[in-house]
Amino acid sequence: MSDRAVRISQAGGPEVLTIEPVQVGDPGPGEIRIRHAACGLNYIDIYHRSGVYPLPLPTGLGMEGAGIVEAVGEGVTHLRPGDRAAYASQPIGAYATARVMPARCVVKLPDFLSFEQGAAMMLKGMTVQYLLRRTLPQGGLQPGDHVLFHAAAGGVGLIACQWAKALGLRLIATAGSDAKCRLALDHGAEFAINYSTENFAERVKEITGGRGVKVVYDSVGASTWEGSLASLRPFGLMVSFGNASGVVPPVALGALSAKGLYLTRPSLFVHLDSLETTQAIAGDLFAAVERGAVRIEVEQRYPFDEVQRAHRELEARTTTGSGVLLV
Ligand code: NDP
Repeated sequence: MSDRAVRISQAGGPEVLTIEPVQVGDPGPGEIRIRHAACGLNYIDIYHRSGVYPLPLPTGLGMEGAGIVEAVGEGVTHLRPGDRAAYASQPIGAYATARVMPARCVVKLPDFLSFEQGAAMMLKGMTVQYLLRRTLPQGGLQPGDHVLFHAAAGGVGLIACQWAKALGLRLIATAGSDAKCRLALDHGAEFAINYSTENFAERVKEITGGRGVKVVYDSVGASTWEGSLASLRPFGLMVSFGNASGVVPPVALGALSAKGLYLTRPSLFVHLDSLETTQAIAGDLFAAVERGAVRIEVEQRYPFDEVQRAHRELEARTTTGSGVLLV
């Protein structure tokens, strides 16, 4: 059977996703060919499909996958044909049965992880790694520090709840339903606030005795921005790393002055600047899973042909944790 890939020729709703036959060639120098067992589903794929993050069209989609290395190009030394491997990376195009891609983005998948786990954890787990371990407030993060993590029952969120607990952080979760709040608590959050029904900034004030949190991790964007700033303590760090509810409007810097706040807008792909860094970040994630600090659960599995349904459900906020397309 020929190879297939999900493609879009225009930005839009889930209906623009089409599955097309593709020719996957041989890897060139520095490249590998990987045959996917599973591809990760991420909210960033929704931004790419809908045009929130515009892409040159037509294009493939998807940034995370796991499978078997089939061939390696000249100069590739860390992978061999037959290796189990996984990645989260640009260039986009992981929703495919197989692909050729730069080897420097791809790492070996340890035997204690399934392909589904590999496809579900690389983008989300490496994001949590850089958020909790590399995006630090003034004075660093210490056990006992309060942090606020929005959309905590999502893919990134459930990994963050667990890893934060392992680091001794007191994570205050937000989520859009009581059931999602319970899930965040089950995964290590100390408190959970249903931000669909409660004023989360007021609740954060109560929980922290009026002081506020040291860091807010905000991937929700427009709808949480004001409350997030209000939830920070003096000199706290605002980490704005996504926009599921809409892009944050232009910020007047004066909004930071009353509490001397720090603001960063990071991206995983700035961190993954070389094979060595990618291996270090992935290695830290794999070690956290191996010692039991983080469990990687796949909450949604979709046949490859049901990619439209997968997008509909992710966008409708009916999913929890991580999801994969099965190839
Ligand atoms: P999630 O599984 O967390 O899904 C997104 C969640 O956002 C939803 O489940 C929903 O949870 C919440 N949400 C709040 N408001 C809305 C809204 N109006 N529409 C839709 N969803 C909403 O996705 P991922 O785990 O894939 O990613 C989480 C976030 O992290 C995304 O914003 C993503 O772009 C960002 N990200 C950023 C990276 C970076 O390096 N900058 C890297 C990886 C991810 P609820 O119902 O509980 O509100």
